Amino acid sequence: MTSHPVAVADPDRAKILLQALSSVSSRIATVAGQDQSKPHLPRLVAVSKLKPASDIQILYEYAGHRHFGENYVQELVDKAGHLPRDIQWHFIGSLQSNKCATLASIPNLFAVETVDAVKKARKLNEARNEDWQKLNVFIQVNTSGEESKSGAAPGEDTVDVARYIMNECPRLNLLGLMTIGSIARSNAAAGGEQNEDFTTLLETKHLVESELGIKELELSMGMSQDFEDAIRQGSTNVRVGSVIFGARPPRTTTA
Ligand SMILES: *Cc1c(COP(=O)(O)O)cnc(C)c1O
Repeated sequence: MTSHPVAVADPDRAKILLQALSSVSSRIATVAGQDQSKPHLPRLVAVSKLKPASDIQILYEYAGHRHFGENYVQELVDKAGHLPRDIQWHFIGSLQSNKCATLASIPNLFAVETVDAVKKARKLNEARNEDWQKLNVFIQVNTSGEESKSGAAPGEDTVDVARYIMNECPRLNLLGLMTIGSIARSNAAAGGEQNEDFTTLLETKHLVESELGIKELELSMGMSQDFEDAIRQGSTNVRVGSVIFGARPPRTTTA
C-alpha cells in the first residue's frame, strides 16, 4: 500500500460520519430483515462525490467501509490514487464514451453503474486490462423516461445492451440494472405506494433474465430519500450520499 497524503481525521467530523453511516446501516438491516427470502443484506455504496478524501478515509479506517460511489471521472481518478487500494469504487455519474478508457484503467474500480449503450460497453471492455478481475457493470435504465436522465429504454433496448455485454465483452461482468428514477415518483411512494420506477426496473430485470437465460441480476436503486422503499421493492445495491456526508457543496470544477 502506498502512503497517502490524506489529512488526519478530525475527531468531530469522524464522530458525525460514523454515527450517520451506522444509522443508515441499521435502517438497511431493519428493512432487509423483514424479508426472510433474501440471503444477503443490500450493499451500501456511500456516495462521496464532492466530499473530501479525508471523509472517505474516516469511514474506511474506523468503520471498515469499502464501497464508495463517485460521479466525476477526474475526481474519482484523484481519490483512487490517494486512498487505499482495497476501496471498491463505483462510478455512478453520467458516462461519456471518451472517458471509458480512463475509468477502466482504475484497478480497484468495482463497478461502472451507468452503462447505457453498446458503444460504451465496447470501450470499457477494450480498455480493461485482461490480467485484472473483470469489471462489473450495471446497465442504467431510464425508467422514468425523463429527457434529463440517461439510460437505455426499459424493454428491448436494455436487453440488447445486456446481450452485447454477455456475448462480446469478456472483460466485463454484467452485474445488474440501475435506475435513478423521478423525484415525483419517489415522493409519491413515500406516501406508501409502490415506486413505479422501481417496479419498472424489476420488470426489466425479469425480461433480461428470461431473454438471455440468466438469473440473479442485481438491482441498483434507492438514494438518501428512498433507499428503504427501494429495498422493499428488491434493491440489492443502494447509493446513499447526503444522509451520510451531509449536503454537498456546489460543483465548481469540470471533470
Ligand atoms: C449523487 C447520487 C446519489 C446520492 O444521492 P443522495 O440523494 O445524496 O443520497 C445516488 N445516485 C446517483 C446516480 C447520484 O448521482
